[in-house]
Amino acid sequence: MISPEKKMDLLLSLCKRRGFIYPDSDIYGGFANAWDYGPYGIELKNNIRDAWWKRFVHAREDVVGVDTPIIQHPKVWEASGHLATFSDPLVEDKKTHKRYRLDHLLEAQGVDVSGMSFEQMAAKANEAGLKSPDGNVLAEPKQFNLMFKTFVGVSEDTAATAYLRPETAAGMFTAWKDIRDTMRKKLPFGIAQVGKAFRNEITPGNFIFRTREFEQMEIEYFVKPDQSPAMFEMWLGEMKRWVEDVLKLDPSHVVYKEIPEADRAFYSARTIDVEYHYPFGQKELYGLANRTDYDLSRHQEFSGEDLRWFDEESRERFIPHVIEPTWGLSRTVLAVLCEHLDIDEAETSEEGEKEPRMVLRLPARLAPVKAAVLPLQKKDGLADLGKELAQKIRAAGLVVEYDESGSIGKRYRRQDEIGTPLCFTVDYQSKEDGTVTVRDRDAMTQERVKMDDVVAFIQSKIQ
Ligand code: ATP
Repeated sequence: MISPEKKMDLLLSLCKRRGFIYPDSDIYGGFANAWDYGPYGIELKNNIRDAWWKRFVHAREDVVGVDTPIIQHPKVWEASGHLATFSDPLVEDKKTHKRYRLDHLLEAQGVDVSGMSFEQMAAKANEAGLKSPDGNVLAEPKQFNLMFKTFVGVSEDTAATAYLRPETAAGMFTAWKDIRDTMRKKLPFGIAQVGKAFRNEITPGNFIFRTREFEQMEIEYFVKPDQSPAMFEMWLGEMKRWVEDVLKLDPSHVVYKEIPEADRAFYSARTIDVEYHYPFGQKELYGLANRTDYDLSRHQEFSGEDLRWFDEESRERFIPHVIEPTWGLSRTVLAVLCEHLDIDEAETSEEGEKEPRMVLRLPARLAPVKAAVLPLQKKDGLADLGKELAQKIRAAGLVVEYDESGSIGKRYRRQDEIGTPLCFTVDYQSKEDGTVTVRDRDAMTQERVKMDDVVAFIQSKIQ
């Protein structure tokens, strides 16, 4: 067992040392809360995204994909309510000018802020004489809008003001009319999108947990109003199965928190936050909401377009209701890394001496590298045989590494740290009978398989 504090330190150093995640703009001293996904990090992220798309778009008859711009018509954010209300309560330390989230400071003082309005929080801070964490006086709280502003075109006047999307969802609503009219779907059906979202977070942090730029995987699922409770349950089940069957998170590390009415957005009929036991605390991973007819009604009102659905059977027109399951992709990467980082012991010598080994027990289909080929020696034709085997695996579309340098123990350790599920070792017997040993990352067992069967062997393990 690794202690939670140690786990984050180990994870950060492993991510940098092994090419998963680096501090961004490192050559300029880094840029706070910005991170680069390195060669293995991007493979892991893409594998999660692809597994999600396969499961929720390709494998379903009732979901179609879309890809909409990061900068949309500014009216979108008026209609969605983001311009008016997408803000966090901000306070500034008058002396240091450091900025904090008022709700976070109050929570740290033991105040339960659930259901509190901005005004109530401001009054509470005043009444309690709330100070900054450095003990200084705080300025009057302000509502701080989290959307990044930019300018479209050549002039920087207000007419040209546009926003970077703070969530991918809006694109599904603006594309709703075209998809409704062209895709010949029947209710209930959903629109899925994966992409970047941007929020000018007051207090980002905890590695990639809260950043200003992150990725989301979202579905807007359109239903007849009376179907919404059942469809909410259906998506809750889907989210649970995703977490357990694909990410292999221990169910005891995941909490499905029913959000009481006072804490929900006013239009939401039901919200569940899916929280994960990160090493730094139990925090949001995903969300599921019944958004009723709020979004389409607002876009209908602001655009003047008829966004209703025509039901052939009842001959009625109505605004569909929406169930919205949302998955943070960046937070999934973090949860998967936290969950599967482990330390156990491995034998380091023939005599059975043991030393601690760090291992990422990633589910095989998510692992950045599926197999490594390691010749026992470079000489006597073992290297050539190994390169040939690696090429065969590569040609089958599987990510493979060929590594001939350093002791075999060190090479295994390196693959364990990047989560490679299978290592194939080419030895002298390989030359005689065409077999190699395969070492399983988790069981650390070794068995011999025919080189001709290696591709099928890997494929059977990554289903
Ligand atoms: P939080 O309470 O943590 O700020 P939220 O409730 O504002 O999150 P949503 O608006 O529901 O989050 O966004 C949907 C999902 O997007 C979240 O469940 C999370 O996975 C992800 N997400 C939101 N903000 C960030 C961020 N700053 N960095 C990384 N992922 C994020």
